[in-house]
Amino acid sequence: MTYPAHLLVRNIGTLVSPAGAGAQRGADFGRLDVRHDVEVAVRQGEVVHVGPAGSWRDGADRTIDAAGRAMLPALVDPHTHLVWGGDRLDDFEARVRGESYEAILARGGGIRHTMRETAIRDEDELVATALPRLEAMVRAGAATIECKSGYGGDVDVERRQLRAVRRLAAAHRAELVPTMLFHVPPGDAALRAGWLEHACRDFIPAIAAESLAIDIDVFVEREAFTVDEARALVTAARAHGLGAHLHADQFHAIGGVELGVELGVHSVDHLEASGAAQVAALAASRTVAVVLPGVTLHLGLPPAPVRALVDAGAIVAIGTDCNPGSSPLFSMQLAMALAVRLYRLTPAEALVAATVNAAAALGFSRTGRIVEGAVAQFVILESRDWRDVAYALGGDVIASTLTRTAVSDS
Ligand SMILES: [Zn+2]
Repeated sequence: MTYPAHLLVRNIGTLVSPAGAGAQRGADFGRLDVRHDVEVAVRQGEVVHVGPAGSWRDGADRTIDAAGRAMLPALVDPHTHLVWGGDRLDDFEARVRGESYEAILARGGGIRHTMRETAIRDEDELVATALPRLEAMVRAGAATIECKSGYGGDVDVERRQLRAVRRLAAAHRAELVPTMLFHVPPGDAALRAGWLEHACRDFIPAIAAESLAIDIDVFVEREAFTVDEARALVTAARAHGLGAHLHADQFHAIGGVELGVELGVHSVDHLEASGAAQVAALAASRTVAVVLPGVTLHLGLPPAPVRALVDAGAIVAIGTDCNPGSSPLFSMQLAMALAVRLYRLTPAEALVAATVNAAAALGFSRTGRIVEGAVAQFVILESRDWRDVAYALGGDVIASTLTRTAVSDS
């Protein structure tokens, strides 16, 4: 269904939106504007009016009756790996039985399995398998969703993944943000310097020229890319107009956060191994700290120091990290609910982390609030109390996700 040019959402019992402008941090983090008995008017995908019941007088092509329930900004998922082939169910079962990740890798499981299974799928198959994942994410409240490549390992498969994201974006009502992820370096160390030069000189410019990604991401880790390699890739990407993120401090704090802060990338994501120095660096920067409760739950690893990041004044956001290996989580609503339990965020902090702060992690400033001039993306809950969005573990807490281009009634 096409978004009506003029839409009115009336009879909103409680309207909740992050207060202020821009991302929230420090003493402001978790500050909400809560209003009762209001209506919201939209024109061409932008909020043009927020006011008391009966205050909009310019008419509408379509009116939605919120029936006294709560309405929030739609959730923003700043970190997913949505397009992949195959599954990791054998790995999952083996790990539950106590097998080590090294043993799983040794018999051909792990990320190399996903890379092989992705490489043998054509673009049509990648689109067809990603579409139901995307539908699930929108039903669970997300309207802006970042999608990374990174299971290619070679240029052709990476490009195929990103073309699949572009087709999904064209076909679907959600707003997708394509990111080119440098995930797994070439296995042969002797080839590495040549590979890096090729990536910077040929591959990144080609991706930018085809507009297949708006950002890049680099996995900075002992077994992945070094700080120097990440610096070269981010510098090359920026020269072609692409923004940047880093997967940093997932297992070892080898300087990824420090590099991200120095370069001023949009976000550094994971941070499970971050310590006091990394917390202080992020607190003094505008780079967003994206934390991933699905990974914390699924892998059972110690969490990122989220409360310390918040208390020090870093900008903290939540993502699902939806991927087959470490976080098969298809719901930003559940990511919020998990962040409250696993990271001791308040419901209001979790909402801010999943809306304006997650938008800031993507470099977006008009997304994640319900104020005049904002991108019109809303969630109507089944409940009259907005806190249900951070409370429910399963169930159908989301009644509708209204994306910018269409209205989905789930
Ligand atoms: Zn990830």
